[in-house]
Amino acid sequence: MKRIAVLTSGGDAPGMNAAVRAVVRKGIYEGLDVVGIHRGYEGLLNEELRPLLRRDVGGIVNRGGTLLKTARCPEFMDKVYQKKAAEVLKKYDIDALVVIGGDGSMAGAQALAELGVVTMTIPGTIDNDMCGTEYTIGFDTALNTVVEAVSKIRDTTTAHDRVAIVEVMGRHAGHIAVGSGLACGAEIVLIPEKPVPLEDVCRHLDETHRAGKTNSIIIVAEGAYHSYDVCNFIKEHMHISPSVTVLGYLQRGGMPSAKDAMMAALMSEAAIDGLLAGKRNCLTASVNDHVVLLPYEEAKSITYPVSDAWYDLISVLGR
Ligand code: ATP
Repeated sequence: MKRIAVLTSGGDAPGMNAAVRAVVRKGIYEGLDVVGIHRGYEGLLNEELRPLLRRDVGGIVNRGGTLLKTARCPEFMDKVYQKKAAEVLKKYDIDALVVIGGDGSMAGAQALAELGVVTMTIPGTIDNDMCGTEYTIGFDTALNTVVEAVSKIRDTTTAHDRVAIVEVMGRHAGHIAVGSGLACGAEIVLIPEKPVPLEDVCRHLDETHRAGKTNSIIIVAEGAYHSYDVCNFIKEHMHISPSVTVLGYLQRGGMPSAKDAMMAALMSEAAIDGLLAGKRNCLTASVNDHVVLLPYEEAKSITYPVSDAWYDLISVLGR
């Protein structure tokens, strides 16, 4: 193995830059040439490749976003484009491709693997919703961002004796909502995995307010409800007017937390060491707090759902 390439794909996540830096520097340390591919699979199809040296990745370890840019590339679902991508990699003498991204990006890497390309996937998404790994790079930073934002919203909610609805990301999963809800003492958390009728939300608010609560935070995962629908329902049924804050892309940006920057370094090291040891087409997964290499098919058979215990504890503590 002489030359590897690295790309970032899907939604950006804090810690992706730290992973790019670690792949480049660990690769060079091991005697490999490293090539960066801009804009994910789209850039691969458009041959946006350039060599990366140690100094090219200087100063990015604590920066959000991704130096390599990222993209969603719908045509990459098509075998024709996957074959074209494999040809591009061959044309540039790339012996292995390291993909940093979420489930979709890993599916792209697996499609390339089926065409004979050697790949590794490093899990990078704020949503923490990937198969095979209990942790994805970016999740901890996103959680901290939500907790900081909610604590500020809590101040004004307390001052005015109000109900605040905060919508968080997570796509079809409630990891960000449950983690942040537990960490910031939310009264109610609505997630797609546990559908709750809005009548029950009103009943809960009514009960806790009768018991003396003067303010409440409701965290809504984007996959569960639109926050304005929750707000309108409460307005109609309880004659109170909650505030609504949609945190949106705030959660995807910013300096990675220490945990995310560390996981980026450890997972990148595992990817390069694995390639040099002859491992192929694996996810650098976090299992029981250790980084292990899981072949894609094995990774896809393991899911890490939202913790029931964490979800239940939120309502115990938030009364
Ligand atoms: P995030 O969790 O941040 O959204 P992701 O990697 O899951 O990250 P997706 O948009 O699902 O984000 O996928 C990123 C890209 O991976 C897609 O735009 C597409 O190019 C490629 N991809 C996704 N699914 C597949 C698939 N089944 N086969 C081949 N390529 C895929």
